[in-house]
Amino acid sequence: MTLDEIRAHLQALQARDLPSHGGRTLAYVYDSGLAEADAIGREALTMFADSNGLDPTAFPSLLAMENDLVAMAGGLLDAPAGFVGSVTSGGTESVLLAVLAARDDAGAAPRAASMVLPTTAHAAFHKAAHYFGVEPLLVDVDPRTFRADPGAMAAAVRDDTVLVVGSAPSYAQGIIDPIAELAAMAAERGLRCHVDACIGGWVLPHLDHLDRAQQWTFAVPGVTSISVDLHKYAYTPKGVSLLLHRDSTLRRGHFFASAAWPGYTMLNSTMQSTKSGGPLAAAWAVTRAIGIDGYAVLSRTAREATLAIARGVDGIPGLRVVAEPDSTLLALAADGSCDVFTIADEMLARGWYVQPQMAFRGMPATLHLTLSAATAPSVPEFLTALSEAVDAAQAAGPVSLDPALAGAAAALDPATLTDRDFDGLLALAGLAGGDDSLALPERMAPVNALLDIAPAPLREAMLLAFLDRLSRPS
Ligand SMILES: *Cc1c(COP(=O)(O)O)cnc(C)c1O
Repeated sequence: MTLDEIRAHLQALQARDLPSHGGRTLAYVYDSGLAEADAIGREALTMFADSNGLDPTAFPSLLAMENDLVAMAGGLLDAPAGFVGSVTSGGTESVLLAVLAARDDAGAAPRAASMVLPTTAHAAFHKAAHYFGVEPLLVDVDPRTFRADPGAMAAAVRDDTVLVVGSAPSYAQGIIDPIAELAAMAAERGLRCHVDACIGGWVLPHLDHLDRAQQWTFAVPGVTSISVDLHKYAYTPKGVSLLLHRDSTLRRGHFFASAAWPGYTMLNSTMQSTKSGGPLAAAWAVTRAIGIDGYAVLSRTAREATLAIARGVDGIPGLRVVAEPDSTLLALAADGSCDVFTIADEMLARGWYVQPQMAFRGMPATLHLTLSAATAPSVPEFLTALSEAVDAAQAAGPVSLDPALAGAAAALDPATLTDRDFDGLLALAGLAGGDDSLALPERMAPVNALLDIAPAPLREAMLLAFLDRLSRPS
């Protein structure tokens, strides 16, 4: 291929993706709307794309930028003297490392361990449980407020518990857990308390609507670590999050060294070893370009957009905000007149991406909205589209599933299903793939409605089978 052909091909591929800019994709991407900040980020990304974070003595530039980012975060998160932090590749890695460090206290051998999670904790904690053999002790949140229940979480603590988790805010409903109570409960028992502020950590410090009971930073006694993603509300290119610990002893468990081979002594702060300096440099550049004052403006803009949408939704019959938003995230539920999955399809047809969330342990199926600053100018347009989408979804009525199918799905044990069974199930769900296996059905509502009624283990198994079939050499 010539360079021009390669370029054209890349552009054609990208044209099928959701747009990352323009403020109409309300999950996955974050748009500050600041072209200059984006430009300096890309410049830094390219400039350091080939640098290797494997060895901070070989690339001291990367260590310097990492320490700058950690210092900036410490200021935002009320970190005390003696705090430390590491740059990771994303929120999931930050969460994985927080769990690993809790399991393996400095120098100690891995031990049987458990962690107490509110049901609204991010799936990354379940991934950590799976990777590191730390048992998740799931505790239902208050069904009305979606807030973690400190009393019930205290009752769930076992002798082998090493960690108590809260979110600021949770992804699915955008609710801040009662961190002060959770952290006090953890401290009383000598346990760590991690605050997952992956999505809120760069926004909430600039907003002033939270009362004292909603504090969640290191100012709260007993909070031992906090995760915050820069590739979310710091509006930096993907691949950067931070994990901060109250002191360096708490971090030690996620550092790794190996001299047990004949090559260089491997010495890593995170899960990756060779790692590009690009995302880190980009984050350094973008955070400096926007600056604390800039983030304050962007945060207030995103918060106002969130509240304006919440007010607008109050005026759309059939749709409701499930909980007053604590930050810049919204979850919207439908009444029985239509379903959220059809609304999502109708929104996509109007050029807006909103993210379907399945029902879970008594929580309704919802649409998730992450509001970026760049969406603010088009809130009225968004609300018009939403109102039309609800009308269309009501005209169509809720997706109807064959009750026999629903019954069969509930009875299936994924552990006993063969590959052929999965082929059949995927075809039934409309996820069979064809010549072009990447072509999803035009309308996702029937697929989502079926996945929604599938018990969680079956949904996981079906989607894993789907992923397996997607991920094949072209
Ligand atoms: C996004 C998010 C994560 C996971 O972060 P990734 O960057 O997607 O790996 C964890 N917790 C919360 C609350 C999040 O919003």
